[in-house]
Amino acid sequence: MPPLVDRVILAKWEARLGLSPTRTYRVKRSQITSSYKRLSHIAGYCEADDTIYYSRKLDEWTIVHELLHKKYPELSHREVKKLTDETMSESKI
Ligand SMILES: [Zn+2]
Repeated sequence: MPPLVDRVILAKWEARLGLSPTRTYRVKRSQITSSYKRLSHIAGYCEADDTIYYSRKLDEWTIVHELLHKKYPELSHREVKKLTDETMSESKI
């Protein structure tokens, strides 16, 4: 399946957040296990293999969100969500 990640946007945010290049891997719907099946799509950062897994086109907010999970592994999803909104609104100023 073709990648649905804008590499330019990904590289831009990796640079801004001071992160090393991150792998991305597109997951087929058939690969999503039962506990996630009811979600229309998934996106998640896996620290063990430094990869963002996703099942649909990643928008910029989601790219920033997953990179912030990489940068701050100790933060919860809720905290990273708040930080994502703050990071993106600051970048527009
Ligand atoms: Zn999250």
